[in-house]
Amino acid sequence: MNQYYFNSIEKWIEQYEERIIASVKRLVSINSVAEPESDVKPYGQGCRKVQSEFCQLAKDFGYTCTSYDDRVIRVDTRQSDANRRPDIGIWGHLDVVPAGHDWKYKPFAPVIDKGFLIGRGVRDDKGPAVAALYALKCLQDLRIEQKHHISLYLGLEEEKGMSDVLWLKEHDIPFPKMNLVLDSRYPVCYGEKGILSIVVGGRKPLCENVLSLSGGESENSVAGRARMEIRALSHAPIPEALPDWLAVTSGAGKIAVETQGLSKHAAHPENSENAIYRLFAAASGTLPGCESLHRCLADALAPGTIKLFRDFAQLSSNIYGEGLEIAAQDEISGKLTTVASLLSMEDRLCSVTFNIRYPIALGRHDPLISAITRTLQKHDMQLVRFSGKTPGYSPKDHPLLVNLMNTYNTFTGQSAHPFTIAGGTYARMLPNGFGYGFRLEPEPVTPAGMFPPGHGGAHAADEAVNVAHYKKQLALLILSLAECQKTKF
Ligand SMILES: [Zn+2]
Repeated sequence: MNQYYFNSIEKWIEQYEERIIASVKRLVSINSVAEPESDVKPYGQGCRKVQSEFCQLAKDFGYTCTSYDDRVIRVDTRQSDANRRPDIGIWGHLDVVPAGHDWKYKPFAPVIDKGFLIGRGVRDDKGPAVAALYALKCLQDLRIEQKHHISLYLGLEEEKGMSDVLWLKEHDIPFPKMNLVLDSRYPVCYGEKGILSIVVGGRKPLCENVLSLSGGESENSVAGRARMEIRALSHAPIPEALPDWLAVTSGAGKIAVETQGLSKHAAHPENSENAIYRLFAAASGTLPGCESLHRCLADALAPGTIKLFRDFAQLSSNIYGEGLEIAAQDEISGKLTTVASLLSMEDRLCSVTFNIRYPIALGRHDPLISAITRTLQKHDMQLVRFSGKTPGYSPKDHPLLVNLMNTYNTFTGQSAHPFTIAGGTYARMLPNGFGYGFRLEPEPVTPAGMFPPGHGGAHAADEAVNVAHYKKQLALLILSLAECQKTKF
């Protein structure tokens, strides 16, 4: 690492700090949740607006901004490069997840408080997108030789389905030779597990004494709550002394059973508790401590319904796919995981959604689908539908990856290694696609009491980034881009 570079990069960032923060704020002020169903095609008014704001920032530097059908924008520092296939593409996205509830600050009126910039998208992914733009500007201002031509790409539907990048693929837009995705964490992520979402249904209707059945909050998280209502026929007393995650109430001719779990993202289900599993296991008498509940419900439930509950309990009992009989693992990405995420009943047919993250080495969905279908046949269940994304993997020994790892380790004084993740980014859709940043760990924590617990993270309420730390992350990005100009590929 060249110390001269580094000092001048730091000085440059100090000079530009105010302007950089103002740019992030400008983008964060726009509610750009992608709305594919909107009349404004393809992704709604918010995405249109954020696109034109970003292009304006680029044009202020004299850069060229190309829009691909209002789905992805490409920024080039020189007009003459805009039609060339870039050597390196830097990727981010300008759409955001919905604000959600319980913000202490305002999601679309960004402010700095106690050294933290707060607003929807400051981390994911508007902050990193702005960093990438200023990184190009810094390389240019410091006259760092650009042997490899770098372009910036920003998508507008990352959070909902990545139809933005898919559109480029379908229209044969050439991708850069190497692709760095600033939507992960430092250092380098070179692989992503496969993601498969399946809906499993019982073949036979539930008995008519099941009045309602529901559970879960989102398709990609462990169910935090589940509930059923059963017609009250039993003379057995309403059970008492049940586990604290189980609530049973009666009235108006019915018994309501509600379970609580501990929700976690489906990519990291370790140490979670699944409310759907608990509901089925408690109602079918397969969980110790809940026998009295089962006795109370047994009179109202037909044997076929109890069996189905027991079978669903078995399928959802284990986060490593043992229930579905698809347990697997590989060396680079670890164990297959599976979580029951949603529960519903329609026309008396019960169905459960499972979110599965499978090892990179499996390569594709097909063998899993066959195995799951076999398991379901044994339980008299069926696979209603499935969808997903195949794993992504890029060579770990690529000279650019090695270069990025060296820069990172020199910058941080660590001896870290590249890693794989269970989440999904653009990287899996791009040739030679790597996650690189933009998050650098460890991060400064917010002062005690500033946010309620659970706030401050990427998809959470009060999304926040420490400004000094953001500058450090930006310095690492600029330095990395300067260093990788020395690599041959
Ligand atoms: Zn993101």
